[in-house]
Amino acid sequence: MKIICIGRNYSEHAREMKAETPAEPVFFMKPETAQIKNGAPFFYPAFAKEIHYETEIVLRICKNGKNIERRFANTYYNEITVGIDFTARDLQAQCKAKGLPWEMAKAFDGSAPIGEMVGMEKYKNIQEISFRLDINGKTVQQGNTKDMIFTCDAIIEYVSKFVTLKMGDLIFTGTPAGVGPVKIGDKLEGFIEGEKLFECSVK
Ligand code: MG
Repeated sequence: MKIICIGRNYSEHAREMKAETPAEPVFFMKPETAQIKNGAPFFYPAFAKEIHYETEIVLRICKNGKNIERRFANTYYNEITVGIDFTARDLQAQCKAKGLPWEMAKAFDGSAPIGEMVGMEKYKNIQEISFRLDINGKTVQQGNTKDMIFTCDAIIEYVSKFVTLKMGDLIFTGTPAGVGPVKIGDKLEGFIEGEKLFECSVK
């Protein structure tokens, strides 16, 4: 499986990163080794000094597809959860300054913890779902999928022009504003519509 992540999909976040709002989706990938599940801990890597959380709605692809038309895109995912696109912001800044790809800042081991998957049928409209992250019991980031620049279906249409989607792939759909650092000892809890689906401790 592979993990496809969308960058700058909420204009408030693009603004806080001093980045332009993109005209087309921006995507990058993380390998399978980035995944953490079932509440397993995240081990703060020695190579970074500033790891940020980015709280995102994650889709699970349920059938293989390429060149998927937008009107059929919603049949290609059937479960969602909340996950963290951990980012080594210090390394990313170095990469950006040199005009290099950010892979090392985004794709490292453990950089994609996800919560418990929930069937889509639970939600009336995927483009109207609230989600949030609490750290040590305090809400640090919240968003709503209605504020996405590119909808889930638009993302699937666009990405599948370039990359074949396969059953079991995950799509991180972008983070709203409010990203920030984590430190060793933090307990992260993620919620969709107020329901806790995600837990991960930083060790
Ligand atoms: Mg992200």
